Parts: sequence; C-alpha cells; structure tokens
Amino acid sequence: MGKKGMLLCVCQGTCPSFQGMNVFEVLNAIRREKLVDFVALHPQLCADDGDEYLKTLMANRDIDEVYIAACDLRMQQKMFKDAFNMAGFDPSNHAGVDIRNMNTEQAVEAIKKLIASRRSEGG
Ligand code: SF4
Repeated sequence: MGKKGMLLCVCQGTCPSFQGMNVFEVLNAIRREKLVDFVALHPQLCADDGDEYLKTLMANRDIDEVYIAACDLRMQQKMFKDAFNMAGFDPSNHAGVDIRNMNTEQAVEAIKKLIASRRSEGG
C-alpha cells in the first residue's frame, strides 16, 4: 500500500488566521495516532519554492495520497494542480481542509475528519 502524508501550510506563520493554533501540536496529534506515514510543515506552499517542494515530494511514486491542512480547498486545488501534474501525481489524490481561524483542537479534529472520510471512501 502506498504512503499517505499530511502537510500543514500556515501563510508564513504571520497571518492572524493561524495564530490560534499551536502548529507543532497539530502535527504531533496526528503523529501520535499514526494516522499518516509522514507529516510536514511548510510556511507557504503557494509560493514558488512551495511549488518546488510539492513537485519534488510528490514525484515520489511511493506516495499515493496527500492531505493538506491550510486554506480553502478550492484555492488549494487551483494553486497545487500544476505542481501535482508536473510531478505525475493525480490531483484527485489530494484531499484538503481549511483550518484557518481554528484553535489547536479544532484543527486536529478537522484533519482527523478529513482523513477518516477519505478512508471510508476507500482512499
Ligand atoms: S497555500 Fe494557502 S495556507 Fe498556504 S500560504 Fe498559500 S494561501 Fe496560505
């Protein structure tokens, strides 16, 4: 079975939308429950180096699904599509959740819900 990863993106850590949560605790909560094979934090996935990061990471054929907790899902889909396609990663295997303006517990719950919903779809 392929690997599943969870990426957190936080608008450089300076945007007020992400000030209510402890991003490291969000990542640790997902790690503790072993819900994915790896987690990572990127400050700005929609910047040029974020694109480069996604292209490099998602070119790894062992990864079959990526969950991204960041901004609005439709924005994510638009912003990350080219990088996924260039990496040869099917964009439909990206599942995103908007965690802006949440606290730590709310963000963890939203991510867990996303992962559970993908699992129940057989993803
Ligand atoms: S991808 Fe979304 S959450 Fe990340 S920096 Fe860009 S706008 Fe902010």
